[in-house]
Amino acid sequence: MTTTVKTDENAPAIPFTQGLTSAEARTRLARFGPNQLPEPRAPSPLALFIRQFRSPLIYILLLAAVVSLMVSELEDAVFIAIVLLLNGLLGAAQEYSAGRAAVALRKLDLPQTVVVRDGQTLGIEASRLVPGDLVLLEAGSRVPADLDLVEANDLQCDESLLTGESLPAHKIARSDADRTADDKAMIAFAATLITRGRGRGLVTATGRDTQIGRIAVEIGRASVSQPPLMIRLAHFSNMIAWTVGGISLCLVAMGLMRGLAWNDLLLMSIALAVCAIPEGLPIAISISLALSMRRMARRNVIVRHMPAVETLGSCTMIATDKTGTLTLNELTVTDIRLPDGTHLVLDAHKDFDACRIHGANMTTAQAGKRAERLLRAASLPNEGSLVCREGSWQGVGDTVDIALLAAAHKAGIASGGMIDDYPLVARIPYEPDLKYAASFHRRGQRVGIFVKGSAETLIDMADRMEVDNRLVPIERETLFAQKEEMAGRGLRVLAFAEGEISDDPAQTPGPHHLVELVFLGLVGMKDPIRSEVPQAMADCRSAGVDVAMLTGDDPRTAAAIAAQAGLHVSPGQLTTGDQVRLAEEAGADQLDALTRTARIYARVAPAQKLAIVLSMARNGHFVAVTGDGINDAPALRHAHVGVAMGLKGTEVAKESADIVLTDDNFASIVSGIREGRTAYANIRKVILMLVATGAAETLLFLLAIPLGLPMPLLPVQLLWLNLVTNGIQDVALASEKPEGNELTRPPRTPREPIFDRTMISRILASTLVIGGGGFAIFYWLLAQGYELSQARNMLLLLFVMFENVQTFTSRSERQSIFSLPFFGNPLLLASVVAAQAIHILAMYIPWFRTTLEIAPNSFAQWMLMLAAASSLVLTTELQKWLTRRPAGGNR
Ligand code: ADP
Ligand code: MG
Repeated sequence: MTTTVKTDENAPAIPFTQGLTSAEARTRLARFGPNQLPEPRAPSPLALFIRQFRSPLIYILLLAAVVSLMVSELEDAVFIAIVLLLNGLLGAAQEYSAGRAAVALRKLDLPQTVVVRDGQTLGIEASRLVPGDLVLLEAGSRVPADLDLVEANDLQCDESLLTGESLPAHKIARSDADRTADDKAMIAFAATLITRGRGRGLVTATGRDTQIGRIAVEIGRASVSQPPLMIRLAHFSNMIAWTVGGISLCLVAMGLMRGLAWNDLLLMSIALAVCAIPEGLPIAISISLALSMRRMARRNVIVRHMPAVETLGSCTMIATDKTGTLTLNELTVTDIRLPDGTHLVLDAHKDFDACRIHGANMTTAQAGKRAERLLRAASLPNEGSLVCREGSWQGVGDTVDIALLAAAHKAGIASGGMIDDYPLVARIPYEPDLKYAASFHRRGQRVGIFVKGSAETLIDMADRMEVDNRLVPIERETLFAQKEEMAGRGLRVLAFAEGEISDDPAQTPGPHHLVELVFLGLVGMKDPIRSEVPQAMADCRSAGVDVAMLTGDDPRTAAAIAAQAGLHVSPGQLTTGDQVRLAEEAGADQLDALTRTARIYARVAPAQKLAIVLSMARNGHFVAVTGDGINDAPALRHAHVGVAMGLKGTEVAKESADIVLTDDNFASIVSGIREGRTAYANIRKVILMLVATGAAETLLFLLAIPLGLPMPLLPVQLLWLNLVTNGIQDVALASEKPEGNELTRPPRTPREPIFDRTMISRILASTLVIGGGGFAIFYWLLAQGYELSQARNMLLLLFVMFENVQTFTSRSERQSIFSLPFFGNPLLLASVVAAQAIHILAMYIPWFRTTLEIAPNSFAQWMLMLAAASSLVLTTELQKWLTRRPAGGNR
């Protein structure tokens, strides 16, 4: 990787370093408005209501109403109109609440930016930027507003969004530009992407006044496409619609042959279609996903693409970062090791001012003196800042940088005035691919070089080291052993070196000067494991999810941290970026063999993540990968599930990911997996309920018509049944709580169809019991001499009960309904009770009685129907018991 460095004569002395005052920023925010593009407005409830009628099914129903009117069955027509209205209202209400949830979630995922205000660097929401703000830019961030660049250090922007040009545009600061320079080169445009370097700019326009804003306002926003899962399910609904259509046609044909009235048959087939087609499915699915998204958000998992809810549940491998994800990313320098072996330790408590540096046989002052050169090389090539606010020290920037500044502070070395003594000439900022950072400073007549970075890199760059104020040839083995000892304790190790070159204005200081340096020593930083992580690791094991750790850090450190985190691996499962590269060069097979076993990948460059993830996928894994930097974006985009860090992640990483963790915590991924599995299980529950009841109704007619019986249920009765038993129950099932076994079962294969063995056998059994049982009862009632309307009346009651039982039994695929908490799903309970109550009520309301042709039932009839309905409880319980038995079922 080549790095160019821009010389900047007066870098530390640029104007505007104080930024706006917060008071001024407030007034400007009031005047210019928030830095946001106008959002597409959520559809109003009325629009949603009207939209409910734009479905083929509704057209069929409207046709039914018209047919009813034509054959002057006014009551039927009115009834169908009521059903339509209620369906529309229910659908609109459900969509409205799902849409609101989605909007609320989007608010949690707002872009952030770093500004200077009141002379202090702080992170704020990009929407709060105002013209005049001084904004800091860094590779990986999106430019938050149109900026006039006052500082550009090797700055490049991807402006393809605006210009269509795929090559990154070089940016220069206005002060550096000669007169021939293109004005556009001095502006960073809002929404473009920083691909390299650092910079600072003054906001010239925000929100709709920016270039991109003007375009956006002109063209309006592109519509949001439907998630693939929903498309697949819509497909599935279509398939059912065709099947039902075919069956209906057959029934009509058969009925006509038997001499039934054509208008009755037409209405029947329409009503049957309405009942059998699971038209509530797509909305129930999106509600299930939306609810899971909300539950995930409460667990710090923001889902950016709805279907990712469910895909996360099927992942079999988590490829995770170390720092910040498994650990707290609260780095504290605890150890300093000088090349002569001197060991210094630093206090590690929160109150920096009370912390001291200690060494054996020396005073604090002496110890500070010994560490001075090392800590200077730690503070100069440093992009962090440490400020005292209301009595406590707060850092801004990279945690490694902050930890180093804190160490210098504790050792009594003020980094504040240092830049005045050593004016900055040029800088090579830290990039994970480089594994070091360097800066060049004027030191008298010469230019001093200060480098901090990984031990290997710096041991290579140096050829001498400092022992007792004398320079001696470097002893690489000794230093390496010192590093190994610290890394073995799980400390993150950083090394430091310095050098000097002559101050020659003709030559630009750069990476080629980082040779023949003087090695200054090592520091070890402690980064505690997050307390939730070991439990989450255990959950992963029981849930059949493998975990691999990918880190840029040292193999020893990585192994020690993995052990502390509860990721237990054998020594053979540790590999390094170099080995990955060699395997890659030897061919995909080699790499796949390596990734099949390896679980710790140390010293990997972010750019290697993609190859590793793809190889894991070739090995049959469904991979979730975490990432934060700009170089992680390809892996995040191409993995099955990309998980970005919300706190330390760059905007690019977040935009490439499917999921953002607001707390960067590994344990949150595991909660996400649990929620994802719940969501998928709930979708299956809804499908089970809707398909089984629809198929049962179809079966009832398929048996009755060919066997020469009259229509078992009237069209209005079918519509009524559909309304009271499916109207809210589908959504209620979609909001079932986790059953508790989500993390004790292996992940399901992503290719597994929704209609697997369990699902098919459950649907078949329910269909046979409800449809066949219903038919048998109907047949028997007629044989007993019941009048047709009476028989239908009882059959309708039976079907309401059957379908209520079906709703209840669909609450779990494997667990007995008696073992589930009865009040666990209040909405479901309420909807089932309401369905039953409404039906009973309708029996006593004259208009409904005549329209639906129903009447109150006798006690004996009730008992009979109850007994019949309980047969469904028995069969499904038996079936579940069989699948639960270790030897039985398919699991
Ligand atoms: P991790 O995978 O743990 O996040 P990184 O990729 O961040 O590891 O860091 C890899 C190595 O780069 C570290 O071991 C350290 O030697 C070096 N490094 C990390 N941060 C900095 C920094 N701010 N300045 C210089 N070197 C750094
Ligand atoms: Mg890192």
